[in-house]
Amino acid sequence: MSSEKVVIITGAGRGIGAATAKLFASNGFSVCINYKSNSQSANEVAEAITAQGGRCITVQADVSCEDEVIRLFSTVDEKLGRLSVLVNNAGILKKQSRLVDMTADRINAILVNNVTSSFLCCKEAVKRMSISQGGKGGVIVNVSSGASRSGSPNEYIDYAASKGAIDTLTKGLSIEVAAEGIRVNCVRPGLIHTDMHADGGEPERIARLKTIIPLQRGGQPEEVAEAIYWLASDKSSFSTGNYLDLAGGL
Ligand code: NAP
Repeated sequence: MSSEKVVIITGAGRGIGAATAKLFASNGFSVCINYKSNSQSANEVAEAITAQGGRCITVQADVSCEDEVIRLFSTVDEKLGRLSVLVNNAGILKKQSRLVDMTADRINAILVNNVTSSFLCCKEAVKRMSISQGGKGGVIVNVSSGASRSGSPNEYIDYAASKGAIDTLTKGLSIEVAAEGIRVNCVRPGLIHTDMHADGGEPERIARLKTIIPLQRGGQPEEVAEAIYWLASDKSSFSTGNYLDLAGGL
């Protein structure tokens, strides 16, 4: 692990990102908790970290907009120091729908929030981490989804395809920056207990589907956070361009 231990976690105000922020802080990282609009939940995560003696800042920024991403990374440069880890976690889901009923506006919103955002954050991270640019290397962990394998038919193929793009980004970038001292890996969670299923129009989706999960239950955000932390740590030092599935056997 880099000696400075500074991490940016996008979408860390709630769900998987919030659990990841708390885990990194408890392991000595200075944490940037990025969020889009829910300042209350982001502040609650920050308060929990501070109460445990951890170091963090909250930064509102819509990571689908390049100028906001640049501001996010500049704020971290200034307030926390040299970036060692980026976790591309922010993502959205729209109401369950068949493809024939999807509008261009909906599809584009999914792609810009889930794909463009990760590309833009990777760009800023690579600029700072690359050895040839004076950096000291680093780690990027992308949060994809089991949906990239299933395709999410009848629910959200647009979302699933956005996660397929994250898998491809992980593979391509990992090779592109390996000699720059940067590892790029990816986690692919299955059904995890967060607010996201309500955004898809079915808050009780996990209860409906849990019997098809071999482990017979949904996952907790903390279980995903552990995998993200392992991929960011030196314990996974020979892993790059890899996908870690956390889907209870699905
Ligand atoms: P969540 O509880 O809905 O939280 C999403 C977080 O992302 C929120 O903090 C939200 O900010 C932030 N966000 C969304 N768009 C953003 C943007 N453009 N800029 C900055 N922040 C943004 O979601 P989650 O379930 O924890 O999901 C986290 C990641 O895991 C996502 O990439 C998701 O696709 C993936 N995933 C989730 C599951 C699951 O079952 N939950 C399964 C597989 C993969 P605000 O709080 O300000 O709204």
